[in-house]
Amino acid sequence: MGKNKELARIFEKMADILEFLGENPFRIRSYRRTAELLEELQEDLEEAYRSGRLAKLPGVGESTLQKVEEFLKTGTLKKYEELRKKVPEELLELMDVPGVGPKTLKAAYEKLGVRTREEFIKALKDGRMSRLRGFGPAKVQKILKGIEIWEKAKERVPLVEIYPVAKELERYLKEHPAVEKASVAGSLRRMKETIGDVDLLVSAKKERWREVHEHFVRHPEVAEVLAQGETKSSVVLKNGRQVDLRTVEPEQWGAALQYFTGSKQHNIRVRDIAREKGFKVNEYGVFRLDTGERVGGRTEEEVYELLGMQTPPPEIREDWGEIELALEHKLPRLVQLKDVKGELHMHTNWSDGVNSLREMAQKAYELGYRYVVVGDHTQSARVANGLDPERFKKQWEEIERLNEEFAPKGLVILKGAEVDILPDGSLDLPDELLEKLDFVIASVHSRFSQDNTERIIKAMQNPFVNMIGHPTGRQYGYREGYPVDVDALIEAAKETGTALELNAQRMDLSSELVRKCVEAGVPIGITTDAHSARQLELMNLGVGLARRGWARPELVVNAMPLEELKSFVERKRRKARV
Ligand SMILES: [Zn+2]
Ligand SMILES: [Zn+2]
Repeated sequence: MGKNKELARIFEKMADILEFLGENPFRIRSYRRTAELLEELQEDLEEAYRSGRLAKLPGVGESTLQKVEEFLKTGTLKKYEELRKKVPEELLELMDVPGVGPKTLKAAYEKLGVRTREEFIKALKDGRMSRLRGFGPAKVQKILKGIEIWEKAKERVPLVEIYPVAKELERYLKEHPAVEKASVAGSLRRMKETIGDVDLLVSAKKERWREVHEHFVRHPEVAEVLAQGETKSSVVLKNGRQVDLRTVEPEQWGAALQYFTGSKQHNIRVRDIAREKGFKVNEYGVFRLDTGERVGGRTEEEVYELLGMQTPPPEIREDWGEIELALEHKLPRLVQLKDVKGELHMHTNWSDGVNSLREMAQKAYELGYRYVVVGDHTQSARVANGLDPERFKKQWEEIERLNEEFAPKGLVILKGAEVDILPDGSLDLPDELLEKLDFVIASVHSRFSQDNTERIIKAMQNPFVNMIGHPTGRQYGYREGYPVDVDALIEAAKETGTALELNAQRMDLSSELVRKCVEAGVPIGITTDAHSARQLELMNLGVGLARRGWARPELVVNAMPLEELKSFVERKRRKARV
C-alpha cells in the first residue's frame, strides 16, 4: 500500500499548506477528503486507477484522476512542489506534529514572525505564544509535549512499514550475478518493532564490488544517492528511509553479518567470551589473540562455534539470556515460517477486504496452507460492512462450495468471524451462531480510551471465542493501545483456553508480550489480518516478531495441524459444558 499512503500524504500536505496560506476552504476540504479516500483504499493505487475502479468511487473527479496519473508517472505533483515553496520548510514539517496544525503555525508566523522550528519552540517557551488569542498555557504545554513525542518518533519507523521493501532489496541484490550472499542486517534482521536506518550486507569478490553498488543504486525505490563507493553506498528511498549497503569478501561474510546484526549488548558479550577463550572477534573474522592468525568467519555458525556456542537466532540477539543458553547448547527451537499451517485472521470482500473469498482461498493454497479461517467483521462494524446472521448463512454456502474444490487439493476453508466485543464485554453475534463457526476471533474496535481489561476477559469467558484479536489495541507508529492490564489478560487466556493474537500488521502483541505468553504457556495465533490476498504474505513478518518473543512452535495455534486446531476449539467448548 506504499503508493496510496504516499499520495494521501501529498494531498494532506497540500491541504495543510492551503490552510496555512488562508486559501479557499472548499478546496482544502476536498483535498482532505481525497487524502482520506486514498488512505482507506484497500487496493494498490495503480491497480485501482488502471482498472477504472478508482474513477467509480464517490468523490473522485476528473482533476483527482489527473493528479493520480501525474503521481504514478512522476512520483510527485507539480502543484504540490509549487505550494511547498510558499511555506518555510521547517514550518511545513511541524504541521505533522499532533496538536499543532497549519492554523497554529499561521498565527506564529504572521503574528510573531516565526520561521523555524527553533523560533517556534522559543515562542512557546517564553510565553509569547500563550499571549495570542486562543493559545492558553495548557494548550502551549500540550504543543510542546507533542513536539517532543514527534521528534522521537521521527527517528524510527514501525517495522511493518519498512520490512517489505527491505526484503525486496535483499531479493534484488541476490539477483546480481556477482553477489554470493545478501542479507538485511541490523535491527531489521533482529525484527525490532521500530527501525531507524536499513542495513544491507553483500558478499562478493572484491573486484566486482563496484558493479554491485552500481546495481544497488539503480533500484527503482531509490530516490537519492547519498554516497556510492567501493565498500559502502548510502541511498534514501522514496519513503524517506536511508539504506546503507556494505560489501565484504566471501570469507568475511559470517563475521561481518554477525557484527552488523548486533545488538550492541549481544556483541559486547560475544567479544568478552572470545577474549576469555583466547580469540578476538570483529567484522573481518575470528583471530587468535596470541598469534593474530585468522581462524574463521566465513559463516556466522563458524564464528559462534569457535567460541563454543550455538548460533542464537538473530531475532533474540539482545542479551536477554540467549548467550547463556547458547553456551550450554540449550537454545529453544523457535517457530519458523515453514511451521505455519494456516491463516487464522483474514477479511474478504464480504466485509472490508479487497479480494473475494475464492481469491483469498487461492492465495492461501498457493502459500501451501492446510487451512484458512474466514474472519470477516460482524454487524456492529458498519463501516466495514460487517455481516449479520443472515449474510453469514449465505457466506457459509459459498465456503461449502469452495471447499468441494479446495479440500481435495489439501486446503480446508474454515468458517469464522472477527466478532466485535461490545462495550459491556458481550459479543455482537448470538451464541447459537458462534457455535456453528469453526474458529472465532473476538476484538475490540471501539472505545479506545476506556480500560478494556474486564471487557476482554468477559469475552474470553465465552466458550466459543478462540482468540482475542489485537489484544492491546496498539498499532505501532499510529496509535497507542487502550488501557489494559496485559498480565490479567494473559492469566485469563490461560484459564479459559483462549489464544492471544500476534497481528503482523499492527505488531500487537509486541515481542515483550509474546515473551510473557511464552513464559505463561499461553497459545499465540500468528496472523496477518489480511485485507487483500497480497497481505497474506506478511506472515513472515509475524513469524519474525514471534521469534523475537521466543515463541516455540508448540505454543503457536496455527502451527497445529488441522485436527489439533479442531481439538483446541473443542476443548474449550467441552470445558464450558461440564
Ligand atoms: Zn480487528
Ligand atoms: Zn481484522
